[in-house]
Amino acid sequence: VRVKGNYKHELGELASTLNFMAHEIVRSNQIKDDFISSISHELRTPLTSIKGWSETLDSGGYDPDETRIGMSIISKETERLIGLVEEMLDFSKLQQNQMKLVKGTVSIREIVQETMLNVWAKAEQKQIHLKLDTDENRAFNVFGDGNRLKQVFLNIVDNAIKFSHENSWIYLSVKEEDGKIIAAVQDTGIGISEEHLIKVRDRFFQVDHQNGGTGLGLAITQELVELHEGTIIMQSELGSGTTVTIALPALPEEEMGSEYQADDS
Ligand code: ADP
Repeated sequence: VRVKGNYKHELGELASTLNFMAHEIVRSNQIKDDFISSISHELRTPLTSIKGWSETLDSGGYDPDETRIGMSIISKETERLIGLVEEMLDFSKLQQNQMKLVKGTVSIREIVQETMLNVWAKAEQKQIHLKLDTDENRAFNVFGDGNRLKQVFLNIVDNAIKFSHENSWIYLSVKEEDGKIIAAVQDTGIGISEEHLIKVRDRFFQVDHQNGGTGLGLAITQELVELHEGTIIMQSELGSGTTVTIALPALPEEEMGSEYQADDS
């Protein structure tokens, strides 16, 4: 094809754009393939365990203790499956802009405290101590979806526990700075290398597939924070630990007790 001089540059640009898009498609297909293989693996593990135990129990002849253990494993693994499926549904909702938030006034201090209570037993198993630094007299309110924000903090604190060493500390803090509520979760765990940190911010990425999980948690967390007009920053150093910091627009705080004052106007 003969092209006039003027268009040569544009065609060149178009060609390189197409080239870039083709490259991106190959890359995103690769990410999807990896994702499907890790999610299949994640689904198969609990299913295999449920199948095994239900067949064993079905064959009969087990004493009550063994039956109880089997039933409890089946119930735990079923919980895990439900969690995985919910994660997949959340992710697909977010991808299609179908995630509906039910927003109201939410105290980030309360959300973080609830999260700590929820994970306490899990932390205790690894002798991990959780410490919160905040102003107990303040709510640190944002306008958001309480359940979804809880999900965000549960994911972050859960990861902090998962990737921490036994007998270590996780430091949490909630404060306000420049009209933003800043919540941070700092662990002294295995950390992430610089090279992997870039990829972790990518969807579905996991540094180590042996740890289980789908790599969906952080992707969902990031998108949920963004739906609240917030930002999330992950800083990490291999061998030293990780800090995740979330900043959300602050709601003006009512003075303590002012809600109890009668309004005569
Ligand atoms: P998963 O469900 O696989 O844990 P996430 O999206 O929550 O998925 O996390 C993605 C990956 O990021 C993890 O597999 C892990 O490699 C890394 N990661 C997340 N949080 C931490 C942390 N606190 N310390 C070290 N690595 C982490």
